[in-house]
Amino acid sequence: MAQEISTTNYGEIFICDYCNSECSPRYDDDGVLTNGGGVVIGSYAVCPDCCDQYEYYKDGKPSYDKFQEDIDNGMRKDSIIWYDRNKSFAENGREYRIKTYGTPDLVTSFVSFDSDDEFFNYLNGDVNDKEK
Ligand SMILES: [Zn+2]
Repeated sequence: MAQEISTTNYGEIFICDYCNSECSPRYDDDGVLTNGGGVVIGSYAVCPDCCDQYEYYKDGKPSYDKFQEDIDNGMRKDSIIWYDRNKSFAENGREYRIKTYGTPDLVTSFVSFDSDDEFFNYLNGDVNDKEK
């Protein structure tokens, strides 16, 4: 039986899991956001600057090209969730967390598992199932 060992709430903090930056919004002279977007890959949130760097965007638009080998090897395409390029990384992260977890806060939990099967079931299941 999966057992939660500890949980920490870090509040509304939005950090890229690749570069550890907040990826603060930048605007052009007309006040238009120039670095909106990002992507969630499984449990990793990747900022729009890293999406550019790792070529997750093609011609400025989300592209699955860099994930194709993983998808061919069984990665679920729906585990890649593209953020809205018209919103900042933090705005997107906030909306994603509220929709997915019911809170804008960053909450991490340490959970112990009795078996690999239990762990993989947990990974593949709805993240909210563990609350039930
Ligand atoms: Zn980044």
